[in-house]
Amino acid sequence: MIEICMLASGSSGNAIYVATQHVKILVDAGLSGKRIASALTAIGTEASALDALLLSHDHNDHTCGAGIMSRRYGLPVYATAPTWQVAGKKMGPIPADRCHRLPSCGTITFGDLTVETIPIPHDAADPVGFIFRCEERAIALVTDLGHVTPYIQERLQAMDCLVMEANHDEEMLINGTYPWPLKNRILGKNGHLSNATVAECLCKLISPQTQHVVLAHISEHNNLPQLAFDTVCLRLKEAGHLKQGKQLTVRVADRYLPSCHIQLA
Ligand SMILES: [Zn+2]
Ligand SMILES: [Zn+2]
Repeated sequence: MIEICMLASGSSGNAIYVATQHVKILVDAGLSGKRIASALTAIGTEASALDALLLSHDHNDHTCGAGIMSRRYGLPVYATAPTWQVAGKKMGPIPADRCHRLPSCGTITFGDLTVETIPIPHDAADPVGFIFRCEERAIALVTDLGHVTPYIQERLQAMDCLVMEANHDEEMLINGTYPWPLKNRILGKNGHLSNATVAECLCKLISPQTQHVVLAHISEHNNLPQLAFDTVCLRLKEAGHLKQGKQLTVRVADRYLPSCHIQLA
């Protein structure tokens, strides 16, 4: 059994719970320790039961609660060396024996949970995406990336669950109020994925094995959950991935509250 739950998702803070029968981990801690703890309680677990915290990259919306979580719950923290270099200073003191290196392209194991890291193109020090495996099940978690590289596409084949960002609607972003340098950053090769881009990418990744798609990191100002959902579902329908008899669900992660709690037996 492997499960995932989006505790919060978006630029106002990201935290994701991943667990097997024997291991419970948190991926990213971009909200207060208090909010993470209450989100975990809301889904029937508790912060003190966590075994580790993994960081995808150094941006504040993924790391601002990491120091607190480590100190309060004695959590070992795993991040790539460049992520430690940038985010470590902001996290406050963490005992050296709780600071662990994550390879940017490799595998680490926590009990019955295998975690694979994949380098992703984003304007952070050394950002990574994750594949979580337990027994025959695999979950991909890839948010905060400007484009999908051939390598990512190759690694994300045959997933039971795909969690990917649908950050913005290009038109909303272009016509919105963000200053142009920020618009260009988001639209750039190292920015964020649009609804249309992720829809296209999902068409190539969904396999007969895929049961769940979760759209994450939805922009508050340049997207709408319904628009992300509709854009992706329309494209998946056109490609024949969403039709009667196929067991594929598409969901959108909530910005503030725990959502998309998925368990794979
Ligand atoms: Zn982010
Ligand atoms: Zn980021």
